[in-house]
Amino acid sequence: MEIKNKRILVLGAGRTGVGIAKVLKLEGAEVIVNDGASAESLKNDLEKLSQLDIEAVVGGHPKSLLDPKPDFIVKNPGIPMDIPFLESASSKNIQVVSDVELIASFTDAPIIAVTGTNGKTTVTSLIGHILTGAQRRVSIGGNIGYSIADAVYESDSEFVVCEVSSFQLESTQRFTPKIAVVTNISPDHLDRHKNMNNYIESKLNVCINQNESDFVVLNKQDLYAKRFADATRGNVYWFSRFDEVRDGAYLQDGKIYFAEGGKSKVVMNLDSVQLKGEHNFDNVLAALVASRLAGVSFQQISETIASFKGVEHRLEYVTEIDGVQFYNDSKATNSNSTIQAINAFERPLILLLGGYDKGEEFDELATALHGGVREIITFGQCKDKIKETLSKKNKNITSISNIEEAIKIAIIKAQEGDVVLFSPACASWDTFENFEQRGKKFKELVLSAQ
Ligand code: ADP
Repeated sequence: MEIKNKRILVLGAGRTGVGIAKVLKLEGAEVIVNDGASAESLKNDLEKLSQLDIEAVVGGHPKSLLDPKPDFIVKNPGIPMDIPFLESASSKNIQVVSDVELIASFTDAPIIAVTGTNGKTTVTSLIGHILTGAQRRVSIGGNIGYSIADAVYESDSEFVVCEVSSFQLESTQRFTPKIAVVTNISPDHLDRHKNMNNYIESKLNVCINQNESDFVVLNKQDLYAKRFADATRGNVYWFSRFDEVRDGAYLQDGKIYFAEGGKSKVVMNLDSVQLKGEHNFDNVLAALVASRLAGVSFQQISETIASFKGVEHRLEYVTEIDGVQFYNDSKATNSNSTIQAINAFERPLILLLGGYDKGEEFDELATALHGGVREIITFGQCKDKIKETLSKKNKNITSISNIEEAIKIAIIKAQEGDVVLFSPACASWDTFENFEQRGKKFKELVLSAQ
């Protein structure tokens, strides 16, 4: 996209907005940042923008910002497309883009884009880990609090690996990853997308502009994968935990295979993978295919996959104390994730659950509890609600006020050979700013008990 001398409105401040405004300004655009929040709450952002000599309009979205017409608007993914201001912009034919659209304006490096409902961060990190391990220069990021376009601006990368959410994709028009990975699709964010079809349509943007020299990597088991295969002009590769595939990666008899044109090759043994949980086998297969398509050798792929210990706060091994292992799965902010975590272990579990009450019911979690869950300790705002629902299935439940006490009780109750699993099934906002802060606290408390 042409940037020099263009009049560009950046909608939404924060790290993403300030970052993107900075590079647009450096590229010679006339930039205005607009945010609906008050000057008081945006104090830090406003200071940075003023240092960069970038104009900011805050506390609302005045229509005067559309007159004279900006050449285009760069929108923060958190802002829905249907706010009145953007509807006015669209009636004036002003194009609205998200930051990922601008990556190609700042680098010629091929983009590997990872989207899907679950597993995006894990697959993005693993691809980054494999490429870095294979000595490629890589920019890794996206969908995580800063702008990937800003991150690639001054870096000399050979590849950009970026996680893209449906919110980022809903407004893209030219975004063309060399390799697009779709981990899986299930209903999510329907409050924002209104229905499943809109959600899928926005995700389809990840591959809709691709041509014959590009690739899309899809989950063979996924109900919606065919829509992506039909939407792209690129080459379709598959990954599957269950069936052999003609092009892509699959599991068979404890081995991971890569296939092309129906010819298969063993890449590594499954037991070299350190990640816990069967869902992570999907993530490994997806990352393997993407890295292979990016030109990494099988040997480098197998070595780097084997050395990948996972992403912080996602079934992360913390330590072992007196024969008891501790795992931090603070990212599990709903029952579904916790169920995956419970099923990832063979050892007896002491399960720590609780946090902010999002109105979720815990019946599904109760149904999924099996004999391996020896003790449950609930804490935080949701402690009694969870206890009440889960006690239909498991009587060994202790309800305690906070995470500090919960860990103390877990250590007392744990026996040699057990796993203490912190997989709360709730958001963290009753006590913490986010799941990262909660996970760090868990690790700190466990390590200090050593
Ligand atoms: P995302 O970035 O899409 O939120 P993460 O890699 O951060 O995904 O994983 C978040 C949670 O989603 C994990 O803790 C796990 O419970 C679940 N998950 C991860 N990968 C998969 C997968 N391939 N299929 C189903 N669930 C998954």
